[in-house]
Amino acid sequence: MAFYESFKDAISLAREYKNSDLYEKILELQAQTNELEEESIQKSKIIVKKNEEIKKLKFKENLVYDKKYNCYYSTNEDNEIIGQPYCARCWEKEDVAIHLMNSVNDYKICPECDTNYDFKKKDLY
Ligand SMILES: [Zn+2]
Repeated sequence: MAFYESFKDAISLAREYKNSDLYEKILELQAQTNELEEESIQKSKIIVKKNEEIKKLKFKENLVYDKKYNCYYSTNEDNEIIGQPYCARCWEKEDVAIHLMNSVNDYKICPECDTNYDFKKKDLY
């Protein structure tokens, strides 16, 4: 960071002019700057974590359960289903959204827990 070079230069000047009070003040400022920088890093980490929580909450808010196929779907602003279905078991038990993959015939399978979803059979009900 640029201010480290400025502190280094200021310390050199204080030494050169043999001004111990100025030297001490610069060291204090440098220590305070380091604390502020650490606080800033911690706050940035909190912001990243909170943004991830907001993203997850928005995802949850737009998720709907499909009783017919026992799976979850994402919806858009108009409550229209979008994308591929998610595994209900993984979502409800592990709190993770795993897209179902196409399997044989009209079956879909969760690649994480191997739960099979029979989309054809349920259509007959
Ligand atoms: Zn699963």
